Amino acid sequence: MKDNRYSRQLLIPEWNQDALKKTCVLVLGVGATGSVVATNLVLSGIGKIILVDYDTIEVSNLNRQLLFREEDVGKNKAYVAKHRLESLNPDVDIIDFGEKMQNISDELKNSVDIIASCLDTFEGRRWANSLALNIRKPMVNGGMFAFMGDIQTILPYDSACFECQPLVSQEKLAQACSPLGEERKEEKNNIEKIALPSISTLSSIIGGLMSQEIIKLILGVGSLVKNYLFYDGLSNSFTELELKRTKDCPLCGEGNKLENSNFMVYEGELVKEILIRLKLIFGLIKPEIIFEGTMLKDNYVIKEKIVKNLFVIDEVLSSPLKLNLEYFEN
Ligand SMILES: [Zn+2]
Repeated sequence: MKDNRYSRQLLIPEWNQDALKKTCVLVLGVGATGSVVATNLVLSGIGKIILVDYDTIEVSNLNRQLLFREEDVGKNKAYVAKHRLESLNPDVDIIDFGEKMQNISDELKNSVDIIASCLDTFEGRRWANSLALNIRKPMVNGGMFAFMGDIQTILPYDSACFECQPLVSQEKLAQACSPLGEERKEEKNNIEKIALPSISTLSSIIGGLMSQEIIKLILGVGSLVKNYLFYDGLSNSFTELELKRTKDCPLCGEGNKLENSNFMVYEGELVKEILIRLKLIFGLIKPEIIFEGTMLKDNYVIKEKIVKNLFVIDEVLSSPLKLNLEYFEN
């Protein structure tokens, strides 16, 4: 065989370079694991990669975010990553998106075949999960903390999604019951990012496992981590927790498909009362209700004759959730 860039991987009998060439991967977060995932995919000759990160590079990123150098400090991560990756493999179509992931256009979303969630916040991962369900494309998620890491591959409406497990903590649920004003004040104070302990060995391992899941998905080989795979770097052990898709998952469960949910309300109920229930049922953070193109105020009164359906927006939903209202009989 002629020696070329891909000749070593082409020695693998199951390898299909054309399948890679035809695939577009959306990398959400180009930090530690994101750098590793993007590098592996670009080296292996993926067709297209979309790098999403609105953050700028900081000195404290340089211990693990392999794509960045000291002179990049202050520049946008997606932008720098694109240019560095292009020098690794000019065959790959690389798009940098240096804005918040919530601003990704529908056109860009629709070009995606697989999502790599390399995010470091819980809310961000939940948003990514809802995007995967919305566009019905597989997502590989990875996380890490000091010497520990985890990965999970989500096949929408087939394997367990992020919300199939009780992900909303009891504290958050209790918080949702507090008066709205109080809670919003508190949330504002919590916005500052918490620095998590992280090292490059762990991001290489977790990012490596994630990239491998993506390649397996593309090639259709091996078995995927549909469960939650936990890695403990201190004992070098892998633990798999079984995850089951649940019937009553607020996002992917039966009758709760993201795009269209039935929702029970009382005649004359106030929007602020519905918002509290939405938080509890869907685990939303700061939901807002839209009716006929207008955001409803807290004191708006819901009446059966007027309101048949509503749209809900929230930071963990990748697109508005449509609620078909059903009224309790008085
Ligand atoms: Zn689910």
